[in-house]
Amino acid sequence: MKKTALLIVSFLLFSVFLFAQNKVNVVVIGAHPDDCDIDAGGTAILFAKAGHNVLFVSVTNGDAGHHEKGGGALAKIRRAEAEEAGKRFGVKYVVLDNHDGELMPTLDIRLNIIRAIRQWNADVVIGPRPNDYHPDHRNTAILIQDAAYMVIVPNVAPDTPPLKRNPVFLYTEDGFQKPYPFEPDIAVDITSVFEQKIYAMAAHESQFFEWLPWTNGTHDKVPSTEAERLKWLADWRKPKINDNVLQSLEKWYGNDRAKNAKYAEAFEICEYGRRPSDEEIRRLFPFFN
Ligand SMILES: [Zn+2]
Repeated sequence: MKKTALLIVSFLLFSVFLFAQNKVNVVVIGAHPDDCDIDAGGTAILFAKAGHNVLFVSVTNGDAGHHEKGGGALAKIRRAEAEEAGKRFGVKYVVLDNHDGELMPTLDIRLNIIRAIRQWNADVVIGPRPNDYHPDHRNTAILIQDAAYMVIVPNVAPDTPPLKRNPVFLYTEDGFQKPYPFEPDIAVDITSVFEQKIYAMAAHESQFFEWLPWTNGTHDKVPSTEAERLKWLADWRKPKINDNVLQSLEKWYGNDRAKNAKYAEAFEICEYGRRPSDEEIRRLFPFFN
């Protein structure tokens, strides 16, 4: 009898352990409402589909990203677009109320990012590198780096309980070469969810079909029907797999799967977060197995 009770208790404890082990909490942070989507949207869909918890945070409200609209009216449009995109990705999308184009890495904003990472109980935090053409992207990267480690310090933002472990912090892929090029430590095959990623990104109508085409002179080429727009957006925004990313795909998926991958998202491990072993990365990215 005693033995049976012990077995049951062990089984229950093991189930709780497995349950806790199986959920990965991911926070993706971008400067603008659409950055998380572009840089990690496919990966977010894979996490969400497998029942993990993904939070997108836009540090600015996007109120400068348009040629005809602006200010509070534009911020309202972009918040609604982000909310719709969040539904399509299967993630929660939070837009912080800081002005677009004027972001500075202030202590106030750093503390809010620390709180957001703690409240999500993050295992993984994803954001841009500090080498980038846009000052908001650079300053977002600094804010995230400054939150790394501080998320475990109880005397910092003491109104929100600290994390027990520093999360793994990852940088998203970019093409900037100075002071050093992006290194794809981790690569995720997003071929199976690429269409969904494009459909979710298309929720940011003011960006992909108005503002960004206006900035690159293709405004008059934007198609009018939804089906044509999705195809147009897919052609324009498909992430290319370079040799380094291919090598990383081979490492995580094996050569056969890597060879067949059409689209991928890659990430570099930030030195200021927890430094995961390959085994831990496989646990944090369960779709590698
Ligand atoms: Zn941006």
